[in-house]
Amino acid sequence: MGEKTKLDPKFAYWKGIPREEITWHPTVDESRCTGCGMCVTSCGRKVFDYDWERRKAVVARPLQCMVGCTSCQVWCIFEAISFPDPEYVRDLIKKRKVLSLVKKQLEEEGILKRSSFQNPFPPIHNPD
Ligand code: SF4
Ligand code: SF4
Repeated sequence: MGEKTKLDPKFAYWKGIPREEITWHPTVDESRCTGCGMCVTSCGRKVFDYDWERRKAVVARPLQCMVGCTSCQVWCIFEAISFPDPEYVRDLIKKRKVLSLVKKQLEEEGILKRSSFQNPFPPIHNPD
């Protein structure tokens, strides 16, 4: 990985899993990419570079892609961006026991009281 494409340390792990072990990132179909730049200018994680000579989006920092995010696929009106099956992420959550870590994170952040874990968002009763 070159200096320009080096993984930003703040994206080195996802839910305790080294990001290198997770294959989740966009793929650009260059035959469909018109070079509109929507994905390049909109991704908040700087995953894309722009090739000015060829006028194409380039996935330059794939490991910075947010695991499970597919926003750029939605933004691309030319349908040039694809992702792995979302089931891959769901399997990862199950196999790597991600929800245990999530529970710990919630507790540590004080978002969740232990006593209300079973139902952290009770239904709102309509007075009528
Ligand atoms: S949004 Fe789609 S068409 Fe536009 S630059 Fe990105 S991949 Fe290419
Ligand atoms: S899926 Fe989200 S984080 Fe990943 S490249 Fe697209 S916009 Fe960026």
